[in-house]
Amino acid sequence: MLHVSWVYEPYIRLGVFGSVFLAMAIWELAGPRRRQTFGRHIRWPSNLGIVALDALLVRLVFPTTAVGLALVADARGWGLFHLIALSTWIAVIASVVLLDLAIYLQHVLFHAVPVLWRLHRMHHADLAFDVTTGLRFHPIEILLSMLLKLSVVVALGTPAVAVLIFEVLLNATSMFNHGNVRIADKLDLILRWVVVTPDMHRVHHSIQSTETNSNFGFNLPWWDRLFGTYRPQPSAGQEAMTIGIEQFRDPRELRLDRMLVQPFLGSVGNYLGRRTGGA
Ligand SMILES: [Zn+2]
Ligand SMILES: [Zn+2]
Repeated sequence: MLHVSWVYEPYIRLGVFGSVFLAMAIWELAGPRRRQTFGRHIRWPSNLGIVALDALLVRLVFPTTAVGLALVADARGWGLFHLIALSTWIAVIASVVLLDLAIYLQHVLFHAVPVLWRLHRMHHADLAFDVTTGLRFHPIEILLSMLLKLSVVVALGTPAVAVLIFEVLLNATSMFNHGNVRIADKLDLILRWVVVTPDMHRVHHSIQSTETNSNFGFNLPWWDRLFGTYRPQPSAGQEAMTIGIEQFRDPRELRLDRMLVQPFLGSVGNYLGRRTGGA
């Protein structure tokens, strides 16, 4: 079996998070894709505040981490992968891919079910799009997402190392694909075959509902092409497109306290699963 010394786990997570965050923050300053209407000083304290809140809440609510549960499942022989004889590497790759598919399907569901959209629309209510947008999720969405991940881990019996790879990868790619960074068009088109790029995911943050309901992938780009939810570019163009949703456009809505109550405010809006027709 693949051996990982779990003592290093928090350092691996924090190290990758810190370095990718820093690299993206510098890249955004050096080569921005769009001129931001709402700058860092307004949005970053709230977006980073909610990351800290989310991390704390997950620790308090769940008795185990996904990696911890995978270790228990492994020891007790739970899950599909323990029933079929797979080599460790095949099991690791299959787990990462299937966990990513589960997150894609969850994202589609969060756009289709009214109560879930209320939670998820806070991610879309950011009025600009940068590395911190990729970390900005409502705490209840984070808890539900964790529940789904734990279920997949137990059902599949995913190797613990696969869960760690997946979580670290998703965290890094989410910061990358929300980056306000310029990548040459040709390179972007090549990258899109292996990872969701910022230009690809930015379409998902368009104010137009047909565009909001496309490009659901966070990490692997294949699901959108496979399930017909892929949209190459926003109709208004990457630089002129409007970021956000129709609700919550007052800059005061960028405050942490407002972000937390947004699921409970106003109507559900006009975004539910609309992929055809007008905006
Ligand atoms: Zn979304
Ligand atoms: Zn996003």
